[in-house]
Amino acid sequence: MPQHQINNKSFRCFVCEQNINSVDVHYHSKVNMPICSACNNTLEEREKVNELLDGLADGFVCGCI
Ligand SMILES: [Zn+2]
Repeated sequence: MPQHQINNKSFRCFVCEQNINSVDVHYHSKVNMPICSACNNTLEEREKVNELLDGLADGFVCGCI
């Protein structure tokens, strides 16, 4: 479930790295990062998510499963 954190800092889309109005911000359900409505459900989004998930898999091995 996406978490909506309400605070005053500006959001930055993890795909296009633009600042997002908190009104427009969506959270990607897999990576739980802010995404703007322009990038939501695009191919770029999916590629970026794959990149991030690959990076996580390489970056640390979690023994918690
Ligand atoms: Zn974006």
